[in-house]
Amino acid sequence: MRKMMKYRLYPTTAQTKALEEQLGEACRLYNAALQERRDAYQHSGLSLNYYDQANQLKAMRAEGACGLANFSASQDVLRRVDKTFKAFFRRVQVGEAKPGYPRFKSRRRFDSYTFPSWGDGCRLTDADRLSLQGVGHLKVKWHRPLTGTIKTVTVKRQAGKWFVCFSVEYTADALPVLDARVGIDVGLSSFATLSTGETIANPRHARKAQAQLRLAQRRVARRKRGGRNRRKAVVLLQKAHAHVQNQRTDFHHKTSRTLVDTYGVIAVEDLNITGLARSMLAKSVHDAGWSAFIATLAYKAADAGRQLVYVNPRGTSQTCLCGAPVPKTLSQRWHECGECGWSAARDHVSAQLILGLGLSLLGLT
Ligand SMILES: [Zn+2]
Repeated sequence: MRKMMKYRLYPTTAQTKALEEQLGEACRLYNAALQERRDAYQHSGLSLNYYDQANQLKAMRAEGACGLANFSASQDVLRRVDKTFKAFFRRVQVGEAKPGYPRFKSRRRFDSYTFPSWGDGCRLTDADRLSLQGVGHLKVKWHRPLTGTIKTVTVKRQAGKWFVCFSVEYTADALPVLDARVGIDVGLSSFATLSTGETIANPRHARKAQAQLRLAQRRVARRKRGGRNRRKAVVLLQKAHAHVQNQRTDFHHKTSRTLVDTYGVIAVEDLNITGLARSMLAKSVHDAGWSAFIATLAYKAADAGRQLVYVNPRGTSQTCLCGAPVPKTLSQRWHECGECGWSAARDHVSAQLILGLGLSLLGLT
């Protein structure tokens, strides 16, 4: 299996300059490759592929027309262009109304480049620093051990900070088998409710971080376009975004870890089903973070050898465990069944229904 491991980099002033330069060169190459494809297409109806472009790299570098220090990293930039074009042609083919022609990227927004094979232009030094061709030996904050076999290395700039992402291949260690089963109802008022009746509250700091984010957004809106002060406000806004994102990711990791450690079978709603009921739609729109959480849960479950099952959420808030329909509006938070007389919190009932559906899908009932 593959996963990403991300670490903070602490470049010196000179190294920061070198990193900026490498990113700038990667961006220039990206835009040049894009331009060439556009021209070829517009002038002669030709569509270039990756190899047409990669074959020119050597000559370009000999002429000094490509300043990206590592050859394979340059190839990777061209592969990125190739990918965006392939995605564009796919969108055209399925007849999307606005397929969106690949666009040039601004230097400011071009914020990562990749060394596609470990050991080629990138390695670890004896002093546990990250050596990057064209940059030097960078200090890394190893906040946790790097495990697995390193495949690729991506250098990233995020809100004024630098990071390295290692894509590593590893073999998962399955956890001891557990019989415990749980259904999870994603919530509007709380983060989630379990079929056990337990609720997982939304993290308390989220609201505060959101307020700071709005403040930062307003500050950007007030500043004059193109001005130096706006630029500064934008960096602050990026930082606020990164902060919210980090808090959310952290919460997702911890929550899914607990679930995977406690339950052998986990049933969740499939929020990707089209034509969801309004209440379900509200959930999926409410917080795009949901899909991120489910994704985290999914890979942790796969790692630990847990069964994660997705169920169609249709009706899970409108029926009772006994099968009787119990229609509720969004604001009705309590479930009261006229048939069997069961009375419980709405989300608790939904979570139990989700578990029931999941178990029947797995043939475990
Ligand atoms: Zn009932």
